[in-house]
Amino acid sequence: MNSMVDWPALIEGERERARPGRGRVHLVGAGPGDPELLTLRAVRLLAACDVVVYDHLVAPEVLDFVRPGAQRIYAGKERDHHTMPQGDINALLVRLAREGHHVVRLKGGDPFVFGRGGEELQELAAHGIECEVVPGITAACGVASYAGIPLTHRDHAQACLFVTGHLKDGTANLDWPALVRPRQTVVIYMGLSGLAQICRQLVAHGAPADRPAAVVAQGTLPGQRVVAGTLADLADRVAAAGLKSPCLTIVGEVVRLHDELARFGAAAAETGAAR
Ligand code: SAH
Repeated sequence: MNSMVDWPALIEGERERARPGRGRVHLVGAGPGDPELLTLRAVRLLAACDVVVYDHLVAPEVLDFVRPGAQRIYAGKERDHHTMPQGDINALLVRLAREGHHVVRLKGGDPFVFGRGGEELQELAAHGIECEVVPGITAACGVASYAGIPLTHRDHAQACLFVTGHLKDGTANLDWPALVRPRQTVVIYMGLSGLAQICRQLVAHGAPADRPAAVVAQGTLPGQRVVAGTLADLADRVAAAGLKSPCLTIVGEVVRLHDELARFGAAAAETGAAR
């Protein structure tokens, strides 16, 4: 940490802002994993809060920034076994704030990108709880930088779409014609279990089978791995590589730049390119 920064004073400022007896909730983005990607505001709030309610995706190293005396509550949420139902999490946040606590609701990435931050904020607002949202680096941005895959590039992509590949009942209900357009990058969150089906659907809706695509596992973390290929072979390559979640899929011409630019990703990440 920078010794020029007066950390105790920063934290004190945060504490002074609290009105005694009035609970409040900060919905805070924790970034994709590497704690270096926390915002300064997130670090301050973690160091000042009374309670942290955190998700499955929050890296353990990030929790090192939580004030030692603060209570830590795990709210879970892994695909197919939600540790705490969303309604219970909402009720917990409301209760803690009503008890007068300063709560940090810590979420992986950014709270407003596939993070249910909007739902939690609506619930808190409906109960008249003081709250504020603190953005975080969303997985697409963090992962792309660390893997050396620019999400836009004037030669390859003028647009970037973030979509969720979480398929209800195994059926894909994405807007396929929009996803197969040329000169754009598509980032698919939560898509690993449906990867083969997603790649097939993209080709069936007109994407060239040799369109580059990659899966990045554990992006920005020391175990980061990148498996790159094409829509035709990515699912097989990924199955053979035995990747560990969380995984993000990036589709588009920009993936070709990974070979050239991967070495500029942060030193913490090791990439095992399988191209
Ligand atoms: N709010 C989060 C996204 C939550 S959805 C954000 O803004 O990033 C969870 C999905 O995010 C995972 O299934 C995965 O697709 C992606 N993800 C989150 N962290 C990741 C990481 N470190 N590496 C790769 N993918 C990640």
